[in-house]
Amino acid sequence: MNELITPTANPVDFLKRYYGYDRFRPMQEDIVRSILAGRDTLVLMPTGGGKSVCFQIPALMKAGVCIVVSPLIALMKDQVEALLLNGIPAAYLNSTQGGREQRQIEQDCQAGKLKLLYVSPEKLMSESFFVFLKTLSISLFAVDEAHCISSWGHDFRPEYTQLSLLKKHFSEVPVVALTATADKLTRRDIVDQLHLNDPAVFIASFNRPNLSLKVLPGTKRLQQIERFVAQQPDTCGIIYCQSRKSTESLAAKLQEKGYRADYYHAGMDAGSRSRVQDAFVRDEVRIICATIAFGMGIDKSNVRWVIHYNLPKNLESFYQEIGRAGRDGSAAETVLFYSFADVASWKEMLAENAPANIGLQMAKLERIQQYAEAHSCRRQILLSYFSEDLGEPCGNCDICRNPRVTFDGTVIAQKALSAIIRLGEQVPMNTLIDVLRGSRNQAVMQNNYHLIKTYGAGSDLKFDEWRTYLHQLINIGVIEVAYNDHYALKKGILADAVLFQGRKAELIKPEDAAQLKAAQKPKTKTESARDGLFERLRTLRKQLADEQNVPPYVIFTDSTLEEMSRIRPTTSEAFRSVSGVGERKLQLFGRRFMDEIASFLTGQAREGTSLKGATHLLTYELYRNGRSVEEIAEERKLSPSTVAMHLIFLAENNYEVDLEGLVSTAERLDIERAIARVGLENNAVKPVYEYLQGRYDYAKIRIVAALMDRTV
Ligand code: ADP
Ligand code: ZN
Repeated sequence: MNELITPTANPVDFLKRYYGYDRFRPMQEDIVRSILAGRDTLVLMPTGGGKSVCFQIPALMKAGVCIVVSPLIALMKDQVEALLLNGIPAAYLNSTQGGREQRQIEQDCQAGKLKLLYVSPEKLMSESFFVFLKTLSISLFAVDEAHCISSWGHDFRPEYTQLSLLKKHFSEVPVVALTATADKLTRRDIVDQLHLNDPAVFIASFNRPNLSLKVLPGTKRLQQIERFVAQQPDTCGIIYCQSRKSTESLAAKLQEKGYRADYYHAGMDAGSRSRVQDAFVRDEVRIICATIAFGMGIDKSNVRWVIHYNLPKNLESFYQEIGRAGRDGSAAETVLFYSFADVASWKEMLAENAPANIGLQMAKLERIQQYAEAHSCRRQILLSYFSEDLGEPCGNCDICRNPRVTFDGTVIAQKALSAIIRLGEQVPMNTLIDVLRGSRNQAVMQNNYHLIKTYGAGSDLKFDEWRTYLHQLINIGVIEVAYNDHYALKKGILADAVLFQGRKAELIKPEDAAQLKAAQKPKTKTESARDGLFERLRTLRKQLADEQNVPPYVIFTDSTLEEMSRIRPTTSEAFRSVSGVGERKLQLFGRRFMDEIASFLTGQAREGTSLKGATHLLTYELYRNGRSVEEIAEERKLSPSTVAMHLIFLAENNYEVDLEGLVSTAERLDIERAIARVGLENNAVKPVYEYLQGRYDYAKIRIVAALMDRTV
């Protein structure tokens, strides 16, 4: 690579040429410029925010090689492959490689052939590697997942602490630390431990507007999941479960229903884990039922949804996990199933393990519970937790879409509680409802439940209404379900407050709850952007990915395919304008995608459903099937001259049209001579035709003229 770095070189030009993006996202350019100015830099950006280009573009623009420290070997490989497909020379060094391969890479580094080298922290800090590093011209160090250095963080890695030596040995090389973990303690720790020198700190917004947020009651989860995935055909998603066993059973149930689902948890052997992960990354498995062990090591950008089967234990984990959806910026959905039972089981676990910071963990659990029970914009709650103010409600959460109308349900709660207490906290929900409604069925009469004081106190409500309210009361902690005691209903932790201390119980009317269900699925941006063409492009992407042995999203992201299927580019120029198409990918894949689009458009044109611009594509199709200019003209009822113009246009736009093959050498010489004599004013071929006394038709003359044009 011989990048000519001039003082006027503009980062955005690199963004366009190598990544195919027109614009930096907020902060990216400032970060790039800070690094280019040689400053140590700390970058906090949410997952999917676009951290990579922040150091990759400076690496491209600066002399020397950028050393990237990355904790995950699997990720390194994907990242390097993505870079190579963008035309950026990069490599990684890790323990999976043989000695010879490693030496070759080291030589390439020394010869200045690489712009980025990915290494693991333990490799970087080994003595021999340090000696090697000293022989290189290093443009910068990029420490990815920098929170791993902090024991405060949730992902501490002891190897990372060694990185404090970097600044000591390479004081003149700027260090950029990047992480998606924002809390202040970790942030300070990173700066201290890496000995960053007066770093520029960039904290991007943690808002991910393309992620929709939704909470659903944790009942009939399997049914709800089925309905949900049926509405998201052919998309990939993750279902996070609390236990290993439930990942397995859920995956089995989904498989039974015909879904390509699999499970993943830390109890599996390494081989099976990487096999499952790989199949998911390659779009072969659609649904992964996983514990939180899953996700760290994948960069897959086209995860279209994340479901939490159980409540996570805090909002940090929750946000990190839903952050794995929609990294490509296209719309993605997240669903959290909430039931009070999950809260209870977390509390039990905490009480049992009694960790030193139990108070903190309880408080965090309460915050996520508040999120789940919210009656106002969920994103505002989430972001305020991360000390960010959203200003306006987001418009992309279930509450913004269907504002809740609540009413004071305290009396309902009190009736239910009173009955529960009088029934000795012994009966399950259906029996309780029967008692409240004054039913005379066997279970009630046999047990003399009709004699208790609250018998019939709730006869004004229908059975289903009671059920809805009881579920809500369970969710907010007023009532509890004894899962280990025949599902008997008992007093919840808020029961006494509601009974005796004037605490109100807010409930949502069943109609609203029903409406909610009905309104759960308005057509999203994702779906409308996906038509038959999108599907064909996706199939092609998969095919190319398999040929190149890379994950599909490394070829093009979903959002790039969406734009392609919307714009339908059939010329290089138009194709280049699609966001995510850089020069290298245009070269490598442009033709195949444009052919697919062309064939789709000609199909439509033939069916008469569309389309004006496709006429040259119909010509192209016939040409590719081996027809001559005359045959095409005949078949399409056009003049040969028009067909020639189509073919010239196609050739100019890099379609595979061999203009030279359409005229013989003798013909070409003859016509060239005539053109030289008569000229081609305003592209008028008639004078040439007349000069040649009609020996050649207009089509041939046009073709030769185009060929002459090309050679000048
Ligand atoms: P992170 O490392 O912060 O999780 P990535 O660097 O993987 O995020 O970027 C996420 C996605 O956003 C990638 O598909 C990337 O190509 C894309 N992206 C990054 N910067 C831009 C930009 N300026 N315009 C459009 N897409 C971008
Ligand atoms: Zn909202």
